[in-house]
Amino acid sequence: MAIRLGSESLAHLKGVHPDIVRVVTRAALMATADLDFKVIEGVRTDQQCYINYGKGRTAAQCAAKGVPAVHAAPGLPKVTWLSDPLNSKHRKQKDGFGHAVDLIPYPVDWNNLKRFDALAKLVLEAAKLERVSLRWGADWNQNGRPREKGETDSPHFELA
Ligand SMILES: [Zn+2]
Repeated sequence: MAIRLGSESLAHLKGVHPDIVRVVTRAALMATADLDFKVIEGVRTDQQCYINYGKGRTAAQCAAKGVPAVHAAPGLPKVTWLSDPLNSKHRKQKDGFGHAVDLIPYPVDWNNLKRFDALAKLVLEAAKLERVSLRWGADWNQNGRPREKGETDSPHFELA
C-alpha cells in the first residue's frame, strides 16, 4: 500500500489549501500501486487562466471577457467553459490559498475514464476520513453519478 508523491506533485501542492494537501497526502497513503497518481496543477496564476481561456477562442471572444488578445488560440481545443475566465478555485482565494487541485492516474490514459473514477473514489474516501468537503469536477452536484450533466473535468477537485 501507499504510493509516493514525486517532486513535481509536491511542487504543485505549494500554496494549495492545507485541507486539500491533507486529503491528497492521505490518498497517496491509501493508494495501491495500480492507483498511482500525480498532481498536475495546484495554484493557477491569472496569466495561466488567460492562456486556458484563450484556447479555442478568437481574439474578439477573449477581448469581450477582458482577456488579452495575445492569448487567443482559436485553433486549439477549448479547455474551459467558465463564463468568467478568472472564476477558478485554482486561483489564490481570500485566505491566500488555492482551493483546487488537478490529479491524474499515472501513467495517464485520458480516454480511460474508469481509472479517473477509481482515483476519484479514493480521493473522496480520503476526504471523508480527513473531514474535508471536496467537490469532484466530474460530479459537480456530488450525487455520486459522474458526468450525468456532461461534466468533463475528471482531474479536478476543489473545496466545496
Ligand atoms: Zn482543476
